Amino acid sequence: MSKDGMGLHVVFTGAPGCGKGTQARRLKEKLGICHLSTGEMLRAEAAKGTKLGSEIKALLDAGSFVTDEMIIDMVSKRIEEDDCKNGFILDGFPRTLPQAEILEKMLADKGIKLDAVIEIQVPDEIIMERILGRYACMTCGEGYHDKFHKPKVYGVCDKCGGTDFYRRIDDNRTTVQNRLVNYRALTYPTIPYFEKKGVLRCVDGTGTIEATGKKVDAILGL
Ligand code: AMP
Repeated sequence: MSKDGMGLHVVFTGAPGCGKGTQARRLKEKLGICHLSTGEMLRAEAAKGTKLGSEIKALLDAGSFVTDEMIIDMVSKRIEEDDCKNGFILDGFPRTLPQAEILEKMLADKGIKLDAVIEIQVPDEIIMERILGRYACMTCGEGYHDKFHKPKVYGVCDKCGGTDFYRRIDDNRTTVQNRLVNYRALTYPTIPYFEKKGVLRCVDGTGTIEATGKKVDAILGL
């Protein structure tokens, strides 16, 4: 994949639990470019315990989207920061058609070309199993799974040696069902949108992290 001389600009999209965050973190480590997860930004805001934070928390816990205005404001400020100068990986944004349209405008204003929107495809049955079993290291954020990816030593993070782990509150059956409904209704329409723009690439995300990673690398010419 050719670059525009301004670094790589990639969007990972797909249903919740498809592996967007995992692939984005992998690419960040490989290329040293910024990983922008709107979900993580919102969780950080929610943890502040402010009035806005508690409003965001209520939406996240229910599996509902925050407003386009709020998320667009957050992303447009974030991509102005220095660490985004050599490119960035968007994970969880855009999640609606208005967000997709604004992203296109934001990038055009900065003379940036979107290298690829990578849709990671995983069927719903697999998604539920993946989400309900996943957890992460409190210290470094490394992701694990009860069944598919356990730490080498029980209770100890492979990456940083941390011993505290957490599960996301929105990773429960009811909320995941709502997140899937929202994905179909609000996010899925962005797929044909990006297809028409000629930037959409699809990968089968049912294999291992490494197998999906190889497909992503091939798409990006890495
Ligand atoms: P994620 O970590 O990407 O699964 O996002 C977690 C939650 O954050 C989602 O279920 C939404 O409630 C919210 N969220 C993340 N990104 C967006 C976005 N671009 N637009 C609206 N809500 C979002």
